[in-house]
Amino acid sequence: MPEAVRALKTVPSIDDPNEQVIVIRGSDRAQFKHCRRLWGWISHLKMGLKLRDEPIYFWFGSGIHWALEDFHGYNRYGHAGKAFLAYVEATKACKALPDGWEEHVPLGLGMMSYYSDYWLRHRSPLETLWLDDVPQCEVNAQIDLGVTYKGHRVVYGITIDRMTVDAYGQLWIHEYKTAKAFNLYHFDLDEQITSYVWGATKVYGEKPAGVVYLQYRKHIPQMPRILSTGKISVDKKQPTTAPLFRQLLTDMFGSINSAPQEYIPFLNHLTAEEEAEADRFIRRDYIERNVHEIRSFEERIHMELEDMLNENLPLYPNRTRGCVWSCPLQHVCLAMEDGSDYQDTLRSYVGSSDGQYYFNEVLKWRQVLPPPEQVVLPEEAQMYAQLIQESQQLPREGQQALPEQTLLEELSHGQGRW
Ligand code: SF4
Repeated sequence: MPEAVRALKTVPSIDDPNEQVIVIRGSDRAQFKHCRRLWGWISHLKMGLKLRDEPIYFWFGSGIHWALEDFHGYNRYGHAGKAFLAYVEATKACKALPDGWEEHVPLGLGMMSYYSDYWLRHRSPLETLWLDDVPQCEVNAQIDLGVTYKGHRVVYGITIDRMTVDAYGQLWIHEYKTAKAFNLYHFDLDEQITSYVWGATKVYGEKPAGVVYLQYRKHIPQMPRILSTGKISVDKKQPTTAPLFRQLLTDMFGSINSAPQEYIPFLNHLTAEEEAEADRFIRRDYIERNVHEIRSFEERIHMELEDMLNENLPLYPNRTRGCVWSCPLQHVCLAMEDGSDYQDTLRSYVGSSDGQYYFNEVLKWRQVLPPPEQVVLPEEAQMYAQLIQESQQLPREGQQALPEQTLLEELSHGQGRW
């Protein structure tokens, strides 16, 4: 095995830049167990190769994380959408914009505007934990694992999106995810969630109650569509909300009660999707882990470390059908197997082999964020914010209960007809 793949790389410790440590991150563990060959190429512990064309969701996800970090922390930009735009400008200044970034700017801006201008108006933003005047957002920590390798401490690298404290003084870790659709069935087995509870326990000296798992769908709520017949579409797949639909009915018919009955089932459907902690665009789930689970997690890390720290471990591939859609270096892997010049193929896919890429390059944009006064929400975004604010202020029609209110009341009081 070539030395470049064999050797374990070190990086400066967060606490003492003069000390070199070996950092294990959750993503490393997952990658290592998934395919050792791929891990050897792209893990910062090994060759640390940087892909020439990084998938756009890395760039987009970082922007959303930054927007939420600022919004729930120092709030320098005063608006999550503006913070996202500041990120776009900063990555532009660093020449770190990926292909296709233009289409993602309105998406990020819309998602963040919807969250801060609308979603949170109906729900608690939850209280960010501040320590020594520092908001606990995007907290980077290195947790000592009590192991040394070739004289270097081995630490677990973790980044906590946000810590909050509830009315009972309990800590909660926030984890942000953006995706096309909500994912609801993995919570019990999600290793990342367990790692956050374990890591936050070490960092804050007390076990948090759990993780607030926040999912943002990559859609911007829109006014319901008007069909060529002049009618309003009641297609359940369209990205809209009950308040927006209610607003359109009011605009077109003067009031909800004057609207044709054919629209009421769809309005009821949209209303029923609005929950205390979720609507069809954003949801919060509260996930807990007990003490036994976090102890067991720590034991697993140490078992895996035995393999990951072994520089002579064969880095064999794990070829599965999933490689086709999940491996960015599958052509290099193929070349290696069929005897082609895989080194040449590898060079065409990667841009650098700096193992410290994550620690240096990825964070450069933070140094060149524009001042808040230079970031202006585009007119469309301001109009959108106004629209969704107006839609939620719509009066609910005098004394008479709206049809969707009646439905909810029936459901909550058990007075339905079944
Ligand atoms: S193609 Fe599959 S086996 Fe080959 S490096 Fe990628 S993930 Fe590993």
